[in-house]
Amino acid sequence: MTIPGAWRRTARGAGLLAADGTVAASIFAEMSALAARTGAINLGQGFPNEDGPSEVLEAARAAISDGVNQYPPGRGLPVLREAIARHQHRFYGLGADPETEVLVTAGATEALAATILALLEPGDEVVTFEPFYDAYGALIALGGGVHRTVRLRAPDFQPDLDELRATVSDRTRLIIVNNPHNPTGAVFPAETLALIVQLAERHDAVIVTDEVYEHLTFGVAHIPIATIPGAGARTVTISSGGKTFNTTGWKIGWLTAPAPLVTAILAVKQFLTYVNGAPFQPAIAVGLDLPDSFYTGIAADLRFKRDVLERGLAAAGFTVSRPQGSYFIVADAAPLGYPDGADFCRALPGLAGVVAVPIAAFCSPEHRPEYASLVRFAYCKRVDVLERASEQLAGLTARA
Ligand code: PMP
Ligand code: GLN
Repeated sequence: MTIPGAWRRTARGAGLLAADGTVAASIFAEMSALAARTGAINLGQGFPNEDGPSEVLEAARAAISDGVNQYPPGRGLPVLREAIARHQHRFYGLGADPETEVLVTAGATEALAATILALLEPGDEVVTFEPFYDAYGALIALGGGVHRTVRLRAPDFQPDLDELRATVSDRTRLIIVNNPHNPTGAVFPAETLALIVQLAERHDAVIVTDEVYEHLTFGVAHIPIATIPGAGARTVTISSGGKTFNTTGWKIGWLTAPAPLVTAILAVKQFLTYVNGAPFQPAIAVGLDLPDSFYTGIAADLRFKRDVLERGLAAAGFTVSRPQGSYFIVADAAPLGYPDGADFCRALPGLAGVVAVPIAAFCSPEHRPEYASLVRFAYCKRVDVLERASEQLAGLTARA
């Protein structure tokens, strides 16, 4: 698709258009299209290939039948806002007033977009970890911000705390945290989160935390940064029903934050989507009230899947990191003789009938060389699919 010149300027300024004026597809869209074209197993884009809890699906069907089909209120249906507040209290002991401190959004993506556009002045600095989820870079650019990063390095992808101290300054307006982390699967410990809060307080920055994988950690507790003393007053906590309930296509997300921050974000959000997904909102509310056994079950299930794919990748000759959470595992293709992950991912459907995503796609151009041979595989897929992918990947050594 080509966009006419007059419309191109801002998107191009933000680096979102290719030089020829075409829309550069996101790496996820590109790799899913590659999987569809080649029939390869799609371990690229992070979406589950089986349905989530039937109670949640049934509640959406019932809501449609019951006529929940018109615009919901701008902040979201009260039944969902109340369920979000209950969830924050039940799992984390956090209080959130459903009237003023909770906002329902079109996925975590809109929560991020509205937050960044609402709170950033052009020229403000935004600190993220790197590799970073691709939307962060694009949204910071759209908001006119200056993106600074703190690098996460193999094998454990934990930040160097001195580098973090050196990166946050009085110019920092937002610190964006993603925990558990996409694409590395890192889960940040209390010490790291406490330093982020300390730095945010010292430099008067707002913390924006993307916790869409909050229920998907393996043997380590997820600590919402908002629970760290001092954080609550300056933190926007973002999550989504997509990963927890296997409903990535529903795009029901939310944020919780102090009332004045929610008001500022709502002022932007009302002109992005205004509202979305009326019948899905009460269904996600049903999900948030599911018993603890559901939540422990999804983490155990995903942990098993991680182990299947980790074993498969290691047996195929990759050096693999061990993710503590999220949908993703990072594998180094260099030991197999592939120093460039992007080339490797383009060739992988032909080599092994599998699709993955290069980690370089989550990096700024100047830091890509550091991550060049790393690729991300998604394990949020049925076990039989992960086993088949592992068998196919086992043939790589023979070809290398
Ligand atoms: N943040 C992270 C870290 C993600 O991995 C994703 C995608 N799954 C999103 C945000 C987007 O979430 P949503 O689909 O709810 O917009
Ligand atoms: N979050 C998903 C991933 O990291 C993809 C979402 C998207 O396609 N934008 O794979």
